[in-house]
Amino acid sequence: MAELSERMRRLVQPHLSTIEPYDPNFTPTRINLSANENTYPMPSAARDAIDRALAATPLNRYPDPMSNELRDELGAWHGVERSRICVGNGGDELLFNFIYAFGGPGRTLLDCPPSFSEYAFFASLAQTEVRQVWRDPETFELDQQAVLDAAPDCDIVIVTSPNNPTGNLVPFEFVGRLCAACPGLVMVDEAYMEFADAGASARSLLDAHDNLIILHTLSKAFGEAGIRLGYVLAAPDIIDVFGAVRQIYSVNVLTQAAALAAVRDRALFLPVIDRVRAERERMFSALAEIAGGALTVWPSQANFLLVRMSGASEVRQRLRDEFSILVRDFSHAPGLQDCLRITIGTPEENDAVLAALRALLAS
Ligand code: PMP
Repeated sequence: MAELSERMRRLVQPHLSTIEPYDPNFTPTRINLSANENTYPMPSAARDAIDRALAATPLNRYPDPMSNELRDELGAWHGVERSRICVGNGGDELLFNFIYAFGGPGRTLLDCPPSFSEYAFFASLAQTEVRQVWRDPETFELDQQAVLDAAPDCDIVIVTSPNNPTGNLVPFEFVGRLCAACPGLVMVDEAYMEFADAGASARSLLDAHDNLIILHTLSKAFGEAGIRLGYVLAAPDIIDVFGAVRQIYSVNVLTQAAALAAVRDRALFLPVIDRVRAERERMFSALAEIAGGALTVWPSQANFLLVRMSGASEVRQRLRDEFSILVRDFSHAPGLQDCLRITIGTPEENDAVLAALRALLAS
């Protein structure tokens, strides 16, 4: 495993001395279903509108720090004032800023693994203690009572709905109970919510709970992982903090222009989202039947499926090396032994995954 040079271990802040240099571990492949991106072509009318917006954007001026035009459009979509929205350079920046601003030394983040590993990583950067309440090892459902019991002692809580990498929802009624139980702030990470059944979002709880934060991104359903645009919805005084700690120009002019055009055209993306949902169900059934049940697959409300099979790590490597298909290996992650996460791709990509898995699991 790569590590910092001895000199750097001495020079970085002590809590960062064991940090590893970033290893993108990226192999170019014919089919990349490893990062939960949207692999469908963008609707051409939406892409044209984005291209026109980009072409009309002057590059010589600094961006509007708070992206007001974009926030107004997001606000019109979600039915909130711009004072209840902060944008960021992807959801990742907002997650980091959340933990940085409201965590820190002496503070505790409540995390419900297996979940998105960045939460614990960002907590370690921000010297925030992590209290883990593990999900059920078989179903990956939250242990609701244990979460409610732990919440009063925690400063910040993150629950992920649908959860990455397990794909299941957190019932929004439970989010309300969690907000009531937590004296600090509760974030619901809804990065994948557009792929879920209608009515699953915690959005309707925002007015009743002024300690609730909902995280969204254009990286998944809206196929714009490359532009880096995430946003949070929350009470105005929470948004003030997000606005105060952020790098003021982290959302550049091209991102603001592209995001604004995409959000205006959001209805054009609905058929793509429907297609991903239909393909997800087709893949779920097909994977459940593969190799006479040699593989476990969990139902998902997101754009990926978690599967378990013996020898998962080797299967992942052979998918990459023999079929040029990249999926995500979680087989060494705690609680996810022998698990792979497969993003839902186009019908052709999904067929290629099925054919490759059938071949590999038969051999
Ligand atoms: N939350 C979850 C659960 C995610 O899986 C991701 C992306 N992998 C993000 C947030 C952040 O996405 P982005 O930075 O691309 O907006």
